[in-house]
Amino acid sequence: MNPTECKNVWILIETEHGCAKSSGYELLSAGRLLADKSGEELVAVVIGSRVTEAAMQAGRYGADRVILADGPEYEIYSTDAFAGCLTALVEKYRPSVLLLSATNNGRDLGPRVACRLKTGLTADCTSLDIDGESGNVAWTRPAFGGNLMATILCPDHRPQMGTIRPGVYKKPPERPDTSLPSPDSFIIREDIHIDMCKIHTKLVEQIHEAAQAINLSGAQIIVSGGRGIGKPENFSYIQELADTLGGAVGASRACVDAGWISHTHQIGQTGKTVAPKLYIACGISGAIQHLAGMSGSDYIVAINKDPDAPIFEVADYGIVGDLLEVIPELIKDLIEK
Ligand SMILES: Cc1cc2nc3c(=O)[nH]c(=O)nc-3n(C[C@H](O)[C@H](O)[C@H](O)COP(=O)(O)OP(=O)(O)OC[C@H]3O[C@@H](n4cnc5c(N)ncnc54)[C@H](O)[C@@H]3O)c2cc1C
Repeated sequence: MNPTECKNVWILIETEHGCAKSSGYELLSAGRLLADKSGEELVAVVIGSRVTEAAMQAGRYGADRVILADGPEYEIYSTDAFAGCLTALVEKYRPSVLLLSATNNGRDLGPRVACRLKTGLTADCTSLDIDGESGNVAWTRPAFGGNLMATILCPDHRPQMGTIRPGVYKKPPERPDTSLPSPDSFIIREDIHIDMCKIHTKLVEQIHEAAQAINLSGAQIIVSGGRGIGKPENFSYIQELADTLGGAVGASRACVDAGWISHTHQIGQTGKTVAPKLYIACGISGAIQHLAGMSGSDYIVAINKDPDAPIFEVADYGIVGDLLEVIPELIKDLIEK
């Protein structure tokens, strides 16, 4: 598509049981930043079955307009149905930017749609901006094993597409109902349907892993253990501190690679991106790949016996000491208070 014919910032909101997923709210924050800087509208796209509530939520959390495609073929995610629908919408409205979440479905859908539209896609971005010189989106993501951050532009093709890691942006504030226009004025219903015979996959069974219960991305407090805990049994120290604070347990890759804890707990470039109010790093050195997943936390506390550990450079509070002594003292103090 010709860049001069395209305008507006689009985000795709994924849904669950008819409501927007938290990753969708986060995209509203990312999209708002781009829309305000480029002086364009922020448009949320909701594709699903019985998802009017998700469209309303998108409006409440900052979308100027919502495009809604509702149909039984979208009840369960399939690449064919969603790629067909999203491609048709983009071809009709010609947005300048299209953001998707770097979730399993977003990572599947993004490249398929980009290929059909013959445009570029920057995957797994950790920040976004508008390039002051060209006005293009500047997509930033880790490159070369996370040793440097690359900023990528897509100057010649539209829409400029990218997937954004969940947890990088925060949910925007909710607008009061009184300031909202009537749903009919901001929701556009699109009657796009995909022939069932064009959907080549069938969902046979859904298995809910216990791991899904570990909601690290939404946790307000995270206590993470690194190689410095010494042995897998010592994760009990981390768990106890997390339980005392009402938080979740995270881990560095060193612990995951050693088989001390499952990958669902891993935080960092190849794990989860988190932005809790409080992140306590215990026995974690602060490698760049770990920082990539937690440096957006409001407050970072580091416990490390090496005063020169790089984690202290990003920490708001640092405790130099043996975590096996410091953590029990902390727990005692917290319980007494
Ligand atoms: C492509 C790529 C992707 C990666 N992705 C990730 C990722 O997603 N997440 C991630 O975490 N890493 C990732 N890594 C690995 C990363 O580079 C580091 O190797 C890893 O983060 C180190 O983990 P650590 O801090 O637990 O261990 P170490 O670096 O070994 O640090 C252990 C720390 O514990 C301290 N310590 C030791 N004993 C104690 C004690 N008793 N009390 C207090 N402190 C103590 C030490 O002083 C040290 O600072 C990736 C690497 C690559 C190449």
